[in-house]
Amino acid sequence: MYIGIDLGGTNIAVGLVDDTPKVIAQASRPTLSTRPYEEIVKDMAELCEEVAIKGGCSMAEIQGIGIGSPGSVDSKAGVILYANNLGWSNIPLVEELKKYFPAIPIAVENDANAAAYGEYAVNGNGAESFVAITLGTGIGGGVVLNNQILRGCNGAGGELGHISMVFDGEPCTCGKVGCWEAYASVTALIRQTKAAIEANPDSLMATKAAEEGKVSGRTAFEAAKAGDAAAQKVVDAYLTYAAEGIVSIINIFQPEVLVIGGGISREGDYLLNPIKEYAKKYVYGAAFCRTELKIASLFNDAGIIGAALASVQ
Ligand SMILES: [Zn+2]
Repeated sequence: MYIGIDLGGTNIAVGLVDDTPKVIAQASRPTLSTRPYEEIVKDMAELCEEVAIKGGCSMAEIQGIGIGSPGSVDSKAGVILYANNLGWSNIPLVEELKKYFPAIPIAVENDANAAAYGEYAVNGNGAESFVAITLGTGIGGGVVLNNQILRGCNGAGGELGHISMVFDGEPCTCGKVGCWEAYASVTALIRQTKAAIEANPDSLMATKAAEEGKVSGRTAFEAAKAGDAAAQKVVDAYLTYAAEGIVSIINIFQPEVLVIGGGISREGDYLLNPIKEYAKKYVYGAAFCRTELKIASLFNDAGIIGAALASVQ
């Protein structure tokens, strides 16, 4: 049995993970990130005990505790170097949690890398090279090579959302402009959909948005499926942006398996098939490309499972 902790800016989610690997018990609390970190870690420790009880095991049976944290992480030292949304710099997270569980191996990973490792454990089929990307509010990414997370020298290696897509393009959350994230995240899709609604106020897409009182990542996809030409244009452009980034990633790593997760991945084959077609055409040496493209299967559990398993990596 393992415990995975998904530390977010809003919530601390903790799960008990078995050997399958599956989350068999869960608990969460609000992070309240402006508190001193010692208080946040105390909540983590209490949540660990809570999920162990819920899952019917004792802390003595726990083989490892893993934490997935936002930001730059020094996994070897167990320190969060910098996490913008927690307001943290140089926080000795592992040392602090060790005070509660001195006998259990504890480790910390960047959260996107932990999630990638979770997908690798379940969907990687033992691949030597594996990439996971998450098309969500932003674009997260993680790379696993020979069963090791590619951490990079500042612990946030595999930040695939910030590869350049358009020189002089849209502003990105990272401070740069033109990043892939600024074109292929859900946030970007919503921006693209809103612009198309403004230009096509009589479209089905505009009617749907008015009915729902908001534009979401599904608005354009649903209207396109119902035959709306303006929505189809939005979807086609979005899929091209998504596929362009994936082609670059395949060119860099030539991974055996590349998994796509995040909110948009719920579109399934409607998302995956056009990306596969595009990759078949444009990947370097396309005729010989053996990268298998898949939709992620773990969704919210990926971070917990990945952190849990990475604790004993
Ligand atoms: Zn960026």
